[in-house]
Amino acid sequence: MEILRYKRIGFAAFAAILFVFPAYTLFIRRTHPSSPPPDGAAPQPAVISPKPNLIKITPSLSPIEPFQQQRDRLIAIHRPMEPLQPGDWLESHREAGQSFDKYWGTERKPRVDAHRRLLVVPIGDTDIFQLEIMQRAAEYLSANFGLPVEILDVVDVTEFPAEARRETSLGYGEQLLTRYILDHILPPRRSNDALAVLGMTTRDLWPGKGWNFVFGQASLSNRVGVWSLARYGDPSRDEATYRLALERTIKVALHETGHMIGIPHCTAYMCCMNGSNHLGETDRQPIEFCPECQAKIWWACRYDPVARLNRLAELARADGLQDAAEFWDAEAILLQENAATR
Ligand SMILES: [Zn+2]
Ligand SMILES: [Zn+2]
Repeated sequence: MEILRYKRIGFAAFAAILFVFPAYTLFIRRTHPSSPPPDGAAPQPAVISPKPNLIKITPSLSPIEPFQQQRDRLIAIHRPMEPLQPGDWLESHREAGQSFDKYWGTERKPRVDAHRRLLVVPIGDTDIFQLEIMQRAAEYLSANFGLPVEILDVVDVTEFPAEARRETSLGYGEQLLTRYILDHILPPRRSNDALAVLGMTTRDLWPGKGWNFVFGQASLSNRVGVWSLARYGDPSRDEATYRLALERTIKVALHETGHMIGIPHCTAYMCCMNGSNHLGETDRQPIEFCPECQAKIWWACRYDPVARLNRLAELARADGLQDAAEFWDAEAILLQENAATR
């Protein structure tokens, strides 16, 4: 399978997403669906709201000291960046990475002061398996960033203009033009209080002339992004394929939303914010953020670290993502033990 690589374009302007990355709303089952997709199955608008868990700031400390302390307690169980393999992201992209302290230097004002929710837009038809994966990914988004996530109405792609759709022989059906989605579909749906509008589609995507496909693309300055589930595997095939497609979708959702709050690619640890050139690389990367990148989320979203971990572990247990659930549990225990013996 040929994988295209993004040209490096500047983080703030028009950052392309090549991610293979990768949830349950109030009305979706927690297990792999076994019934056939109903005709015309369509997502209903839903809101997923986290409990308010704002991190407490002690006035006598510097503003980031509590975040630094929590960060340092997690370092022992995170893996440093592993040696690169041929074709990996960092082989073709020179990136320096960024510490939490450096991030704070440019992000003094928490993002949630201005924007307090995330919007997810399903684009095109889905079957019941794909729909559940999108909804489940929305749950993880809410748990990871401590923000309400609203799933908007499905966008009908049959109304796209001819130039924004094309047939290919790549084996993934009709493709949609990312530029059209980023310019004409997502911005009108972005409310003033939305941190980001995230499009998810089961259609394959292409970014324009000269490209055969792309996993996804985003405009950070416009706070909009879209990615495709088309190449994550057919979740209707069996339990294992469903779980892999779910995990990939969660990873890309968390990663791209991480970019939306200003987190660049991580180069220090194995981390959900690592760049990725291909699915194999994504599959080697963890679903969790490293201590440096987690601290950025706590700061940007004013989110209590333990509350975050408990919510994520609960979701992962329900989805059979056992390794992820155990890791999130271990992190929560580490933070709570250290807090008790401090
Ligand atoms: Zn990225
Ligand atoms: Zn990281």
